[in-house]
Amino acid sequence: MVAPSEYVYLDHAATTPLCEQARVAMEPLLASGERARPPSFGNPSGSHALARIATRALDEARERVAAVLGCAPGEVVFTSGGTEADNLAVTGGMPPRPGVPVCGATEHPAVLEPVRALDGVEVAVDAAGRVLPDALAGTLERLGGGTGRRASVVSVMCANNELGTINDLDALAAVVHEHAPGVPLHSDAVQAAPWLDLSVAARAADLVSVSAHKLGGPKGVGALVVRAGSMLSALIHGGGQERGRRGGTPDLAGIVGFAAALEATASQRCSQAARVAALRDELAAELELLEAVSPTVGTTGAAVLPGHLHLLVEGVSAEELLLLLEQRGVCASAGSSCASGAAAGSHVVEAIGVTGRDRAPLRISLGATTTRREIRAAADALRWALARLAERGGSPVLEART
Ligand code: PLP
Repeated sequence: MVAPSEYVYLDHAATTPLCEQARVAMEPLLASGERARPPSFGNPSGSHALARIATRALDEARERVAAVLGCAPGEVVFTSGGTEADNLAVTGGMPPRPGVPVCGATEHPAVLEPVRALDGVEVAVDAAGRVLPDALAGTLERLGGGTGRRASVVSVMCANNELGTINDLDALAAVVHEHAPGVPLHSDAVQAAPWLDLSVAARAADLVSVSAHKLGGPKGVGALVVRAGSMLSALIHGGGQERGRRGGTPDLAGIVGFAAALEATASQRCSQAARVAALRDELAAELELLEAVSPTVGTTGAAVLPGHLHLLVEGVSAEELLLLLEQRGVCASAGSSCASGAAAGSHVVEAIGVTGRDRAPLRISLGATTTRREIRAAADALRWALARLAERGGSPVLEART
């Protein structure tokens, strides 16, 4: 049995540890009694002195988040995370916008499920899981041409959570402007935010979702960027917080931690991206020597986030493989970390045309804390797991290639 402190954590796309900057920023807001100086428990919606202290902290965090995301402070709507931001963007609030939402087939369920609930349309993706401009143009043309339906929003993720592949949002925005003028483009940038400068990568999107816990902030906090001029009402109605776009007392400590984590991420982005991509490539090169393992988007030439390595492993089941990896202390995943875990098939892998029950998807995702030692341990563990499975099942494809 491996002690939790000894686990090799390679599931950073699911969540990543709280960074020191976020912890330090949040601490005064979580302190109580004498340790809380100045007292910071006030409700930012109030009007007395203690409420004003909280309001100032909220305003300052909003300015810092906006500066990193490349938008105005008034365009930031704080939410309970990526899921809420996505739901708000797709529906446009309550009642939902007229028309039907359009999204890529490999979107996270936080987009896909509200799109399906509103009888929306999914755009087919290429072999790397990207929405290509021609495919989007075709979908929007068909929708506009005689079906009597129109798009209410187009939602295409900045980078995919399972494969790590990056969409060209500038090109997709041009398609939306041409084929569905006036329709907002939403991008779920939850996975991209730790690695890409969203003030550039997502500049073409009218609505952008981010989540704190994917980049070293606390869980349960996120934001939707709503660019000036985008129509949006509240999904959660209440006391008119967030300029009437999201009711409810904000999680001030979480938001302050989010701002600190976002700034820390931005200041280290270039060096971390280069370091992590090098480790990822090292691991990929080592694993590709195994006959059973192939990179899922390796030959497509698609740009991939630095921390993602998505593999297909022949002759095994995802559940068995993950269980054996865990016995060696390695935490990875078969796909996204939704409630269904590894048991349910991946709609992303299905959407890129990978079939066959004997090919297990394996997502290894690195983060800011990943070390070379962990990468070596992961390679050893995978070799060991494949050898065990070959012994048990006599799989024909588990030999070393060279
Ligand atoms: N969108 C993407 C692409 C994600 O990867 C996730 C989390 O896995 C979410 C949305 C949901 O974010 P949250 O966990 O903050 O609700």
